[in-house]
Amino acid sequence: MQSGSTIVAVVPGKDDVQVTYMQGTELKTAAAKAVIMATPKFITRRLVEGLPQKQNDAMQQMRYIPYSVVNLIFDKPVFNKGYDNWCPGNRFTDFIVADWVIQKQPGYHQKFNIASCYTPLKEEERSHLLNETGARKIAANVLSDFQKLMPEMNIQAPPNLFAPCYDELLDAGINDWGGVSPLTPDFINPEKPWPHLEQLKTRTESRGYILRQRLPVYPEFLTKLISRPGLLSDRVQAAADREGYATRLQAA
Ligand SMILES: Cc1cc2nc3c(=O)[nH]c(=O)nc-3n(C[C@H](O)[C@H](O)[C@H](O)COP(=O)(O)OP(=O)(O)OC[C@H]3O[C@@H](n4cnc5c(N)ncnc54)[C@H](O)[C@@H]3O)c2cc1C
Repeated sequence: MQSGSTIVAVVPGKDDVQVTYMQGTELKTAAAKAVIMATPKFITRRLVEGLPQKQNDAMQQMRYIPYSVVNLIFDKPVFNKGYDNWCPGNRFTDFIVADWVIQKQPGYHQKFNIASCYTPLKEEERSHLLNETGARKIAANVLSDFQKLMPEMNIQAPPNLFAPCYDELLDAGINDWGGVSPLTPDFINPEKPWPHLEQLKTRTESRGYILRQRLPVYPEFLTKLISRPGLLSDRVQAAADREGYATRLQAA
């Protein structure tokens, strides 16, 4: 076995088997007494020379589909009811809660949630995985189905990281662009400038949504937060409008 190599031909001879492989830019051949092929059948039939026609035909009939894993990463816990959760009728067969095992460790405080969604594609969709736009589209479809299962969830996508894909993301059900500043860069991704707010507004409205400014706390959590008297409660109440979004600042 030689890791990091790509086999290009396996030629059985009278006394040995010649295995030709690429290692880096070098083409090498090794002789072996016997070879066990552990590559998928549709590859094996192309590598091994002299297979009986019937066997070759049978191997060709075995079909393989891409089975991608889409990791949905949430900045707060969204689902912890089970480890492997089957969801028939969706674009993913099931999803697992990635931190399920460590959640049981003493002292573990969950800040994030990762749902790893197992997503079989059709054979003809294989090429979608070859470029970023195609892969993002698959992820957006998975997100859309996931959100239908849990409609109360807020889903955020930073617009500076997804510039070409606003339509797909909005159609997939995101409802939060996160923090977008006309004054500062994105300190985490300084090479990705924020979109202009007017541009973000126009593109959001073109899909039938309204762009509104929210507070650091989502509106549905506001009642709970302000029920505890104190400075934070006072400040948040002063900053929120009746629907729990940020009050519009009046020009002086
Ligand atoms: C999303 C997903 C989740 C899964 N989850 C589970 C699970 O939880 N539990 C479980 O038991 N199974 C799971 N499976 C199934 C499991 O991964 C497969 O059954 C298993 O990996 C098959 O092993 P294999 O060695 O036959 O083939 P592979 O793992 O496909 O190995 C074939 C290898 O051949 C290599 N290869 C191909 N062409 C060449 C070449 N020309 N030269 C050199 N090397 C080459 C490939 O790079 C690959 O590493 C899952 C599969 C998928 C896709």
